[in-house]
Amino acid sequence: MQPFLALLALACAAGSTAEQHWCYEIQAKEPNSNCIAPAQWPGDCQKNHQSPINIDTSKAKVNPNLKPFTFTGYNQKKKWEVVNDKHSVKVLLGDGISIAGGDLPAQYQAEQLHLHWSKESDRGSEHSIDGKHFAMEMHIVHKKEPSSNEVQGAKDNIAVLAFMVKVGDQVNEGFQPLVEALSHISTPNTNTTMKESSLQNMLPQKEKLVHYFRYQGSLTTPDCSETVIWTVFQEPIKLNQNQFQEFSTKLYYDQERKLNMKDNVRPLQQLGDRQVFRSRAPGQLLSLPLPTLLIPTLTCLVASFLQ
Ligand SMILES: [Zn+2]
Repeated sequence: MQPFLALLALACAAGSTAEQHWCYEIQAKEPNSNCIAPAQWPGDCQKNHQSPINIDTSKAKVNPNLKPFTFTGYNQKKKWEVVNDKHSVKVLLGDGISIAGGDLPAQYQAEQLHLHWSKESDRGSEHSIDGKHFAMEMHIVHKKEPSSNEVQGAKDNIAVLAFMVKVGDQVNEGFQPLVEALSHISTPNTNTTMKESSLQNMLPQKEKLVHYFRYQGSLTTPDCSETVIWTVFQEPIKLNQNQFQEFSTKLYYDQERKLNMKDNVRPLQQLGDRQVFRSRAPGQLLSLPLPTLLIPTLTCLVASFLQ
């Protein structure tokens, strides 16, 4: 009988570990919560090239290779499937949507987009810019092509485009199909189909997308693998107050609808020995250091003098 009891005890122990799932701080603070808070997240989460980070714009180095992106299929209109995946709201993006350029080493295929948010308009973004958090942050996750060549754990396997979301006065029509879908996916593991829409309509104007920051980091959820080329755009998306509030009121973390989904934000991570780069937008000649401007000018002058 005793070995049987021992086995039973083992089985119970194994069962309880399996049930322990990672969660955000707001969930870990709930009474009787039995989930793993960000400070204890497993996998690579405790390594030192993690995301999100604060972007100190005064320390970001201009990299002239950070040219504009080529967006393919972003203007495609489709009825996207959207799910409540227990941690966020996720739009599943199909084939034919990809990005290239922007100093990426290959073409990257879009897989999904999701958001992070709070109820307050100044703490829902994961990244912060000069210490400032935004209302929300949207991540469009892309995988390197061709996936057959994928080297397990390579630093550039994933490219995430991150957009800050600000609360403004006007209704953002491009976001409306997603906002309207939220009430159909209130509880975890439910899904629905959005009204026809395109990715491009959810983003800021294309001309504004030439300004961005770049650094090497990780996924912001377990296992936090350090395989992400991050692009954080300077121009925010704008939603109005009602659209913004829908996320924290319509969606729940749990089946019982006890805890509204909000503050699904990983705390900031140390930059460590990494460098953040920034793109140089066309026409920003004057932001170049003076010698860079003077040397070609002087060379021209000397050349014409010698002729
Ligand atoms: Zn994310």
